[in-house]
Amino acid sequence: MNKNYDLVPKDPNGNKKVVLLTFDDGPKEKEMIEPMLDTLDKHKAKAIFFMNGYRIKAHPELLKLVYDRGQIIGNHSWDHIELKKESNAKIDQQLNDVQKIIKDTIGISPVFFRPPFASSNDYVREAAKREKMLFMTWSDGSLDWDLEKKGYTTEQKSELVIENVFKLLHKGSNILMHELPWTVATLDNLLTKLEDEGYSFLDPRAIDTEL
Ligand SMILES: [Zn+2]
Repeated sequence: MNKNYDLVPKDPNGNKKVVLLTFDDGPKEKEMIEPMLDTLDKHKAKAIFFMNGYRIKAHPELLKLVYDRGQIIGNHSWDHIELKKESNAKIDQQLNDVQKIIKDTIGISPVFFRPPFASSNDYVREAAKREKMLFMTWSDGSLDWDLEKKGYTTEQKSELVIENVFKLLHKGSNILMHELPWTVATLDNLLTKLEDEGYSFLDPRAIDTEL
């Protein structure tokens, strides 16, 4: 991963035409997660699900479901707050409590961290490193989160998700999406279009987290 949070091959001759798929702010609903998992399986794709602690606490079974289906779990803070506005102690709590609930639920600790709103500072980066997590924001925002209040139909929102991803698409794109109905509805379509453009989906487990 480079400084722009793009994914680049370690070997200069490696495949550069990859994207990283990420889904933030879950786990919310089985009714959305199951079709997402089915679509990822259909495309043999792995993604990072950046989860919030308070949502995991409400639905630990959904964390288990995503993990058991072979997807990768990331830490997205407990409360989905702007971490740069918080004290160091609060930042520690926001990261560490999520590590703990995930470890307690599925037996592993996340190695990826993404701060909500990309709000961070040096201490947030240090805290992530201390918990042995690779810090990342994203480089290709689908803006799916921004469509909620605008008067579009789900179909229009789905089209905009694809449009937005393709507007910013480049080799190594770190694509930010969310567990939202219009994103779920268009995921199969999006992954097909990416494949048609010659992109493949990077397995997050291949990312060097020691950076
Ligand atoms: Zn978020």
